[in-house]
Amino acid sequence: MLKEECAVFGIYDCEEAAQMAYLGLYSLQHRGQESSGIITSDSKRLYEHKGMGLVSKVFDGDVLNRLNGHMAIGHNRYSTTGISHAVNIQPFLVDCKVGKIAVAHNGNLVNAVEIRDRMENEGSIFRSTMDSEVLLHLIAKSRGENLEEMVVDALKQVTGAFSLVFMTKDRIIAARDPHGFRPLCIGKSGSTVVIASESCAFDIIGAEYEREILPGEMLVISADGVKSIQYAEPASHLSRCIFEFIYFSRPDSRVFGENVDKVRRKLGRKLAVESPAQADIVISVPDSSNTIALGYAEQSRLPYELGLIRNHYVGRTFIKPKQSERDWDVRIKFNPVKGVIKDRRIVVIDDSIVRGSTMRKLVSIIRHAGAAEVHLRIGSPPITHSCYYGIDTPTRSELIASNHSIEKIREYLGVESLQYLSTKGLLECVDDPENYCTACFTGDYSVKMHGEYSKEVFESNEGPDAGAQAEKDRAE
Ligand code: AMP
Repeated sequence: MLKEECAVFGIYDCEEAAQMAYLGLYSLQHRGQESSGIITSDSKRLYEHKGMGLVSKVFDGDVLNRLNGHMAIGHNRYSTTGISHAVNIQPFLVDCKVGKIAVAHNGNLVNAVEIRDRMENEGSIFRSTMDSEVLLHLIAKSRGENLEEMVVDALKQVTGAFSLVFMTKDRIIAARDPHGFRPLCIGKSGSTVVIASESCAFDIIGAEYEREILPGEMLVISADGVKSIQYAEPASHLSRCIFEFIYFSRPDSRVFGENVDKVRRKLGRKLAVESPAQADIVISVPDSSNTIALGYAEQSRLPYELGLIRNHYVGRTFIKPKQSERDWDVRIKFNPVKGVIKDRRIVVIDDSIVRGSTMRKLVSIIRHAGAAEVHLRIGSPPITHSCYYGIDTPTRSELIASNHSIEKIREYLGVESLQYLSTKGLLECVDDPENYCTACFTGDYSVKMHGEYSKEVFESNEGPDAGAQAEKDRAE
């Protein structure tokens, strides 16, 4: 099954629900670029449009005008690996005993494969490889007396990370898992209620951020207003994803009740305190590390310069010339400003190193532009473990820090010095440090994978051997 790193959106009581969902998804594009979908309802029937690619490619004016109704849910899907089939585009819509029901999901259900196998043995037929489809089957099979009971019944059977919006013809249901892995917030504009992964989606449509949906909370939004149901006890220690602050969320968003920009600046300042450098200027790898670099420059009293310019128009279809010795993927994305870099001792800030391949190419580009020294500072600890809860990290063996010392990584990248932010320092940058998941840095997973199933099985359905290998990895 697929891992899901995504954006979800919902809007209720809005004249132009489809158009607003489009704008909301547009502002959440950074959370998923592979596919996008909107489903609307006019209380009588549901209307659907989905497609592969960016929001601007999937929808146009005519399409949006056909999506009737005063309520909508939408989804952007991110998948740098895994199977990208049209059948996996969300929101996912099915017909069951409560009528038509659609779901959009951000996160990963860690027991989805297990439930799916059981259901398939009992005769269920699945259309996609999405773990979210499992949820709809659980709802359809529930013996609950009404929709709310059926959704609660389904939510109680799944474990892992989920921030969800469901829609039937007359209501939207939003829910967050009891660990609170992924963000989900509610905003309002008059009588219009908006649900989104990040608050930047409210700004674009003029809605005001109200609050986070609580871990274990479900909101039923209908003609009766917004009803809150605490369907499960929140975990005693929450597992909010700290990577949302490091990389994933937009700096202009509020996430987990904090401003991303503020936390990200703190990461930079903390990094400067922990790992100063003898240098002339600070540059960032745009855009993801801009805010961290600002914090670093401010704290270290070094000038922040724009040493790398990013081309924003790089699409997936970019055709690489065959001269394979050139690093086309990184070159097309980043170009150095030679006048800034030449003969300078440079602190390069990046938010994270995953495989290390981007940074190795980038360092070579910066050196080629004449840098006197390159001191690399990373705004997160070394990523040593895969994420099972919705961030797209590769398998453990591909993570450079899982099997190399910092000194070896420094040598491989070809820099004068390399320092990462400490896990302790990272946690000091958030208000509520005991309520965050840091498993990708520590291997401390709060929700265990079930049986032999692993991320590898999720992605490829290769069978239990892949799972056993991952179990072995985790035990190391
Ligand atoms: P690499 O080390 O070459 O695998 O890529 C590291 C770069 O990817 C970092 O500069 C991050 O900005 C970016 N990055 C980190 N995590 C992710 C993710 N989950 N999805 C996409 N890009 C990411």
